[in-house]
Amino acid sequence: MNPAVELHSHPELDERIVIVRAGDEVDAVFVRTERFNVLIDTLGTSELCRTALDLLEERAGAGPLIVVNSHMDWDHFWGNAAVAGRAPIIAHATALDRLRDPATKQVLIDKVGEDSRFGDVEIIGPDITFSGSMTLNGGDLTLELIHTPGHTPDHIAVWIPELRICLAVDAVEYPIPEVWSRSAADLQLIRSSLQRIRDLNARLVIPAHGRTSSPSIVDANLAYFEALADSVGALEEDRLRNGQLGSLNGFRLEDFVAIPEGMPLDTLAFYRNCHETNLGATVQAHLETFKSA
Ligand SMILES: [Zn+2]
Repeated sequence: MNPAVELHSHPELDERIVIVRAGDEVDAVFVRTERFNVLIDTLGTSELCRTALDLLEERAGAGPLIVVNSHMDWDHFWGNAAVAGRAPIIAHATALDRLRDPATKQVLIDKVGEDSRFGDVEIIGPDITFSGSMTLNGGDLTLELIHTPGHTPDHIAVWIPELRICLAVDAVEYPIPEVWSRSAADLQLIRSSLQRIRDLNARLVIPAHGRTSSPSIVDANLAYFEALADSVGALEEDRLRNGQLGSLNGFRLEDFVAIPEGMPLDTLAFYRNCHETNLGATVQAHLETFKSA
C-alpha cells in the first residue's frame, strides 16, 4: 500500500515552501515563486504524486509547474508519469546514463515483486538536462540546482539564496548518507559535496529522509566520514582486507553515530547497509594510499 501523503510547512521554513511527505518513505518539496511553482521530486509512484498535486492545489500560485528530479533513485522520481506532458522535468545530464543502465529496470522488476503498488510505475526520464549547475529565476526566489554527486552520480541539491535554505535531498542524511559505490573516487565525491553544502552556510538544510532541518547534520555527516577515515587509517593492511570489518567492535554503525531511539528494525538494517558501503569505500581509499606509497 502507498504511504499517506501529508503537507508540512512552518513559519521558520517560509510559507512558500511546503514539505510533501510520503509517510516514512521520502519527502519531496514544493516551492511557490512569483513566476512559477517548482516540485522537487515526484515521490515513489504516480498515485502518490497525483495525491500530492491535489493537496498542493490551494498553495500553488497562478504560474506554471516546473518539476526537478533530484536523482534517479526510485523513491524520488517514479511519480514522474503524473506530471509528464504537463510540466517540464529537469534533471542532471548524468541522470540519462542511469536511466539507460539495466540496473534501473531491475530495481523496478524487484520492487513490483515486493509490492503491487509499483505495478503501474512507468519509468519516465527528464525533458531538460544540464551539466554543472542551473538557475531557476522565480522573481522573488531563486532556485540554484547544484550538482552534488557522491550519493549518486546524478544527484542535485537546491539552494535558495534569498531564504538561505538548502534542499539537500539525499546528499545529506540522518543518521548517515550512503556513498554510491565502494570506490575511493565516489567517497571523495560525497565528501566534497557535503563540504560544498556546508560552505553555503545555510540557515536550514532539508534532506529527503530523516525529517531534520538543522544545518548541524551536514557537520555530523562530514564528521562521520572523517571518523571512518581515521579508524580505517589506523589499521594494518592485512586487517583492512577483513571482509567482516563492519561487525567488529569499533567499526560498527553505532561506534560512529548514535542510533536514534525507536528506529524501526528495517530502517536500522538499511542504515547498517549504508554504513557497510561507506566503510568499504573508506577501506578502498586507504588501500590505494598503500599502492601509491
Ligand atoms: Zn532517497
